Amino acid sequence: MKRVYAVIRDLRVKAHRMKLITLINSCSLSGALLLVVPLLFSCVDEGGVYTSDAYHTCESMENLLFEISAEHRDITELEPVGPTVEGRTIWAMTISDNPRINEMEPRVRLVAAIHGDENISTEVLLRLIRYLTDSYAHDPAVKYIVDNTSVLIIPMMNPDGVAHRTRYNASGVDLNRNFDVAWVPAENHGATPFSEPESISLKEFSEDIVFHCSASFHSGAVVVNMPFDYARESDGVIPGEYPLVEFLAKTYSTSGRFLETEGLVDSVYVDSGTINGGDWYIIYGSLQDWSYIRTGCIDVTIEIARHNPDTLQGIEEVFDRNRESLLAYIASARIGIFGSVVDSNGYPIAGVRVSVEDGDITTVTDRDGYYWKLLLPGNYVITFSAEGFSDFSEEVEINAAPVQLPVMLVE
Ligand SMILES: [Zn+2]
Repeated sequence: MKRVYAVIRDLRVKAHRMKLITLINSCSLSGALLLVVPLLFSCVDEGGVYTSDAYHTCESMENLLFEISAEHRDITELEPVGPTVEGRTIWAMTISDNPRINEMEPRVRLVAAIHGDENISTEVLLRLIRYLTDSYAHDPAVKYIVDNTSVLIIPMMNPDGVAHRTRYNASGVDLNRNFDVAWVPAENHGATPFSEPESISLKEFSEDIVFHCSASFHSGAVVVNMPFDYARESDGVIPGEYPLVEFLAKTYSTSGRFLETEGLVDSVYVDSGTINGGDWYIIYGSLQDWSYIRTGCIDVTIEIARHNPDTLQGIEEVFDRNRESLLAYIASARIGIFGSVVDSNGYPIAGVRVSVEDGDITTVTDRDGYYWKLLLPGNYVITFSAEGFSDFSEEVEINAAPVQLPVMLVE
């Protein structure tokens, strides 16, 4: 029964994606899209008052994404992640030099507005999309990022929440409590882990693509919050690859002007603008704990502002304070070891587990057999394992530049 349900759900998601992709491909003129999109999508402004009209609704964000997608087809791909409770669409834009080709690059996922009332997070990621796409042709730092990483941006993870001006989705669930690591039943946590279309869509989408590094953006405070959320570093519960997590988190917090932001969390546990999630306050079923533990993708939760600014100038200021951090964070995913894994006939093997001795991040090869394991400089024993094949281990010295290691597994 479970399997039948999974197949039906899979078909439903695929049908949803197909419908939208057909629409995207059939309309090449952004002008035409501006007319068509509002009629076909249920993403309409339902009224209510923002403190400022400078914020995007789900509808105006869709229009903007279609516009950018049409302007920069060579370096962007827009695709649906899945549907929401009320039938809106969660959109993802990939920015990379060959966005429709799977390349051996680290894949970085950035997510905003998983809480629907934290609108500044959407604005910052939309500005990042604009910045990356508009600067690609003339800014060498941006060109480096776009040519050497695959950046996938989900600027509005909870469009129903945005439409209704609420933290929760349309079923009243806090999506950042609906993932399956240390999930506990409680009001607003959902009936079960992944009970919500938004969270299950992100799960299936992420498992399909295989991400290596990620961040989700929030407001209400200012701090870079690191795994784990479900337990405290001060009680000795930390990720096995914590130095790497801290390196990435501090890359974000110490680059550019992030630390100048008013309202940095005041706690003895804050170190250079970073904090262990549990030492701040414990939560269960969070996205970042799931990303780290279940998918082998380092994830941090970045609180970028105390409030949604009242003015356009205030929004621009928040983006300005985060721009260098965003670029540095994405660029820093390009560390460690990467390559492809094939069988003795030279065919790629998907789903090969890649891990290091004493580590707790297990990434897997994607559908083309490609892997990318983020590592700080040092000496490591890397192990590749897959069902039906003998394990393969190799000792590797990692320096600042990533090391390419092609692997053949023997049956
Ligand atoms: Zn939040």
